[in-house]
Amino acid sequence: MTNKTPDIVIVGGGNAALCAAITAAEAGARVLILEGAPKEYRGGNSRHTRNFRCMHDGPLSVLTGSYGEDEYYNDLLLVTKGNTDENLARIAIRGSQESQPWMEAHGVRFQPSLSGTLSLSRTNAFFLGGGKALVNAYYRTAAALGVEVLYDAHVNHLELEGDRITRVDFTQHGTAHSLTPRAVVVASGGFQGNIERLVAAWGPEAENFLIRGTPYNRGDVLFDLLDQGVQSIGDPTQCHAVAIDGRAPKFDGGIVTRLDCVPFSVVVNTHGQRFYNEGEDVWPKRYAIWGRLVAAQDDQVAYSIIDSKSRDLFMPSVFPPVTADTIPELAVKLGLEPDAVAATIAEFNAACQNGDFKPTELDGVATEGLDPPKTNWARPIVDPPFYGYSLRPGVTFTYLGFKVDAQAQVQGATGPVQNLWAAGETMAGSILGQGYLAGFGMTIGTVFGRIAGKEAAAYVH
Ligand SMILES: Cc1cc2nc3c(=O)[nH]c(=O)nc-3n(C[C@H](O)[C@H](O)[C@H](O)COP(=O)(O)OP(=O)(O)OC[C@H]3O[C@@H](n4cnc5c(N)ncnc54)[C@H](O)[C@@H]3O)c2cc1C
Repeated sequence: MTNKTPDIVIVGGGNAALCAAITAAEAGARVLILEGAPKEYRGGNSRHTRNFRCMHDGPLSVLTGSYGEDEYYNDLLLVTKGNTDENLARIAIRGSQESQPWMEAHGVRFQPSLSGTLSLSRTNAFFLGGGKALVNAYYRTAAALGVEVLYDAHVNHLELEGDRITRVDFTQHGTAHSLTPRAVVVASGGFQGNIERLVAAWGPEAENFLIRGTPYNRGDVLFDLLDQGVQSIGDPTQCHAVAIDGRAPKFDGGIVTRLDCVPFSVVVNTHGQRFYNEGEDVWPKRYAIWGRLVAAQDDQVAYSIIDSKSRDLFMPSVFPPVTADTIPELAVKLGLEPDAVAATIAEFNAACQNGDFKPTELDGVATEGLDPPKTNWARPIVDPPFYGYSLRPGVTFTYLGFKVDAQAQVQGATGPVQNLWAAGETMAGSILGQGYLAGFGMTIGTVFGRIAGKEAAAYVH
């Protein structure tokens, strides 16, 4: 336990928390990070990341060309369908440009995008060594600035009296502690690690969801403060969810469990039936809807089936596919009824038309007379061996969060809470009302983490 009362307590130990801590420490504040995870699991979902989306008026570090504010904002509007706070969104977008050199100056190293992600080389800057290297670099920088960190320090209550937080309660190794800092920054992510809360929002099917990131983001501080009248933003049923390999662990499977084979496959449910157009659009524009599509199927599971000619068309998952020489044999190995699957594949194959197959663009090679149709990349599944992957919904993060203003200050029932700021996933719902733009989570955390750190430090001085 720490001896001195810090000026600022930061709840959480991921990207947003670290950006806030470093900024506040550089401004002269005494900062304490309370990270709920043990040291070896520090860094929340941030340690799973690969890149952040960055505005730039010309080539910047590893980023090519330019990516202006309006183009970035329009990309955001397309995915959120207008469900965003324009002022906060533009602050995040503009702030990304000056954050990139700030990140480099504080230990983060970048690399150009590699094969499979070349389409992002203009818009997204990739972290050398991934999010784990970024998090480790920030912890080193924070330590050099005198930031203290307590691990296994689970914050369970912030006491809100009038318009101020007067006490921070947390437990560490089973012992309860209280602190009375002058300011608090909450950067403790979403609530997807709390399955009971997911079930309350989604219904019992949420029991079968897999969580792609940390189990420590349980929303405890979020719900504690909402119960005390702090204003929320976002819908508890909105989240970023993708289809991942059904064999992934319940938590923390990370990026390697994602499956990118859907557009080249036929996807069936537990009854061996197709339920959606697998070739509706290019995968980067569709992968995020498949989490919900699979969530709506019985037992929240589906199966993606390809043949040998598609095996090398997508980035492989960490799990090898189930393999067989015939479709009925594959179905049995996947635990499906062989006749049903064979009939579905035969019907699909009969509906395929000849065309010029182009795996990297919308090729219009479509089925005819099939419901649901497959409108691109529809080639008969006839060349053994056949491969199958199970798919389950993998939740990345939830969107319910704190309502904040342009200074990242949390809004209470009747006005701002004077000494409370929020950054990262825990307030991202203000900007991401629905949908998701690749790399924007780290942008929101970096920009609003820095804002929260600066504002909190100004408040305590
Ligand atoms: C597999 C995967 C890949 C992703 N890839 C990308 C990507 O490439 N680019 C991108 O922009 N986004 C990506 N994201 C989303 C991204 O991870 C988040 O948007 C971002 O990391 C959020 O940062 P944060 O600091 O808000 O939360 P986190 O990094 O999740 O940090 C939250 C912290 O709070 C701590 N905590 C929680 N509750 C408590 C409590 N009660 N007391 C104390 N501590 C607590 C946790 O232990 C954790 O340290 C990815 C997510 C996943 C799961």
